[in-house]
Amino acid sequence: MTADNRPDLLLMSGGEAMLRPSLVRSIAEHARLIGTRTNVLSGLFFANHPRIPAAVRAAIDAVDHFSASMDVFHEREVPRKATFKVLSQLLDEGKDVSLQVVGLGPEDPYLADLVKDVRSTFDDRIPMFVGSVAPQGRARTWLKRSAQPHRAVQPAPCSLAAWPVVGFNGHVTVCGNQDVMDGIVPMPPHLLLGNIAVDDWETVKERCLSSSMVRALRTMGPRYLAQSFGGRVCSGYCETCFTLSDDPSVPAQVSNAAREPRTRALEVATDLITAGAGPVAFARQWGIAKFAELVLLGLPHKEQAQCGT
Ligand code: SF4
Repeated sequence: MTADNRPDLLLMSGGEAMLRPSLVRSIAEHARLIGTRTNVLSGLFFANHPRIPAAVRAAIDAVDHFSASMDVFHEREVPRKATFKVLSQLLDEGKDVSLQVVGLGPEDPYLADLVKDVRSTFDDRIPMFVGSVAPQGRARTWLKRSAQPHRAVQPAPCSLAAWPVVGFNGHVTVCGNQDVMDGIVPMPPHLLLGNIAVDDWETVKERCLSSSMVRALRTMGPRYLAQSFGGRVCSGYCETCFTLSDDPSVPAQVSNAAREPRTRALEVATDLITAGAGPVAFARQWGIAKFAELVLLGLPHKEQAQCGT
C-alpha cells in the first residue's frame, strides 16, 4: 500500500484471468487512473493460436506486468515452444514479463531443465519465481505432505498476511491461500476481511492493518502464535493458521497481547526487517531457496546488487 492509501499493485490471477480479457483490461485501465499498477498471471491458453487474439492482446497491453505460469502438467496443454513464442514477442516489444514456475522440489529434473531452457532462450532477461507444488487446489488429491517431527517452533512471520485477495464469491481474504479461496477449508474468521459487495477499500485496508490476529501472523507466523497462545500446532504452516480461531481463547489472548506497547514495537521492527529483506529473501521463504536469485533476472546489475540479499 502507498502513503496515499491506495493499493500499490493489483494482481489478477485465476483460474485463468485471461478468459475474461475485457474485464482484465477494464480493471487495469481503472487501476491506472488511480495510480495503481497491475499484473496479470496467465497459463497462456491462447499460445496455441497462430496470433494472440485481439481482446487478449488489448488486455496484455493494458496491464503493467505480464506473468506466465508453467509446470509439467501445463506443458501437456500448452507446449513450451508456444509459451516461449508469446513471451519472446512480448519481450521484444518491451513488455515487462516474468515467469512463475512450480515443480516437485529442489531436485525435480523438470525444474532444472526448464530453468536452463528459459535462461538460455531469453538470455537471462526474464525473472522467474520458482516454487514447490503444495497439497492444495488440484494437487490436494495426489500430493501428501509428510508428517514433521514435533519440536519447538521458532517465529516465522507470514509476509503473505498483508495481501488482500478478492475471490470469485466477492470475499476478501487476508492472503491468497488456495484452499481458503476455493472454500475447501471453512473460512477461518481471522482470515476474512470482508466482501466487495458491501465493503470498500478503506474498510478492507483498515481491517487488514488493525486486526490483532493478522498483525500477529505478520509478526510471529501461525505456528509460533499457536504455540504461544495455546492453539494447535499442526505440521503445516497454513494448516496451523486455519485452526487458530477454533478455540476462542486464542484470538482473545492475541487481542490482549496486541494492546501491549512491546507488541507494537515488535510489529514495527518485524515489518522493517521483512520489507527490507527484499525480493530474494521473499523467494527463499515462499519458493524453492536454490532458485531464489532467479527473481532478479532481467534487472540491471546495479538494481540486482541492491535487491540481492
Ligand atoms: S499462514 Fe495464514 S495468512 Fe499466511 S499464507 Fe498461510 S493461510 Fe495465509
